Amino acid sequence: MKEIVPSPPPLVHNQFESVRELFSKNVVPSYGRFDLVFSHGSGSYLFDVAGKRYLDLGAGIAVCCLGHAHPAITEALVEQSRKLIHVSNLYFTEPQGRLAAELVKRIGAGKCFFANSGAEANEGLFKLARKFGHDEGRFEILTATNSFHGRTLAGIAATGQDKVKKGFEPATPGFRHIPFNDLAAARNAISPATVAILMEGVQGEGGVTPATPEYLLGLRALCDEKKLLLFMDGVQCGHYRTGRFQSWQRILEQSAAGVPPAEQTSSQNCQQDAGSTFLPDGVSMAKSLGGGFPIGAFWVRAPYADLLGPGTHASTFGGTPLACAVALKVLEVIERERLDEQARKLGEWFKRELEHLAATYPRVVKRGRGLGLILGLELAEKEKIPAFAASNKTAALQFVNRLHEIGVLTIPAGTQIVRLLPPLNLKPQEAGEGIAKIEEVIKSLA
Ligand SMILES: *Cc1c(COP(=O)(O)O)cnc(C)c1O
Repeated sequence: MKEIVPSPPPLVHNQFESVRELFSKNVVPSYGRFDLVFSHGSGSYLFDVAGKRYLDLGAGIAVCCLGHAHPAITEALVEQSRKLIHVSNLYFTEPQGRLAAELVKRIGAGKCFFANSGAEANEGLFKLARKFGHDEGRFEILTATNSFHGRTLAGIAATGQDKVKKGFEPATPGFRHIPFNDLAAARNAISPATVAILMEGVQGEGGVTPATPEYLLGLRALCDEKKLLLFMDGVQCGHYRTGRFQSWQRILEQSAAGVPPAEQTSSQNCQQDAGSTFLPDGVSMAKSLGGGFPIGAFWVRAPYADLLGPGTHASTFGGTPLACAVALKVLEVIERERLDEQARKLGEWFKRELEHLAATYPRVVKRGRGLGLILGLELAEKEKIPAFAASNKTAALQFVNRLHEIGVLTIPAGTQIVRLLPPLNLKPQEAGEGIAKIEEVIKSLA
């Protein structure tokens, strides 16, 4: 394979320091970054500028679902970029239409809009809700405490965490938060202005908490009763991460009476909606959708699919032939390699291992949590882990740093949760390596 990206000018010595210097001088410091500079990746591994290898159990925060430098993605990028990268949405292109059809096939009757990120996908849903409620003067959207929906102004208003809102007041009006998995609270919160409810199927940033089947079914019934739109944010937990295309398909299959789970694991079935009793009115997607190439989308259920008519919503880069060709290729690989089943099997194995670690080292680990390959290791309070107590960093951050030292990447969520969002094609042997190294850190703390 020829080099596609021109090589940067050679950095002679101590690349780590020179890159850090470039950032400190020129890049807005809005991220809390770890002291790691990566140069390349291959499969489930990343390599830093000094050549040290890391097992990547974070996958770019649930983005690199096929790992790094996957040849099918490279090929799709090269092939499509030779033909057509962009023409604008003033015209039709085949890849966008085909990708929309693939997403509709996997979710349910409806249509798709393409954007470039998760925040933008949610923003589209917010506009859809406002359009839907406009003539009745309804505009308010209920979201969950501890949720995460992106960093735009409406995104931080929708996000149920104070830390993302602080300093950016006044908040965009029309958002209120309700406790997650609490149906009575949702019912009580509905006002005459309420028009929609937006939920993550598995809260990601909030610390890996799946919605219960009863909650999802209850929300659907409640929204029907009160004429509200029900939106699912599938940006992090979607795209087969839970073992089904969207999280509710996995969550509800456990409660789908009379359907043996084994029959639902084939890829054919994973194109159907699991509980035919449940379909949201809108779904946002991004992260894994392009396997690392930026693309976001929302799906809207058929009765509302034409609400956003010509001229009402747009994105210059939304659904370029290049992004859509890559997203189509990602779906093709997931399907061909049965990575939905892989996510399910490996996820169950991981969860058992994490629970086992919690049972073995109760002073360090409280519990393992998750669904499929969105997993969390919940640590004990910082004060209870002697090696962590003195530092002002959270337990999660200190644990993640210790894993860096022995070559494993994970992602902190909140103060006590270490999140695992590995590539869907992680090999069982790599999963074994990950758990062994996690145990190594736990042992050093016990
Ligand atoms: C990451 C994330 C977003 C925001 O996506 P961006 O691409 O960063 O804008 C929205 N919702 C959820 C659940 C996410 O995890």
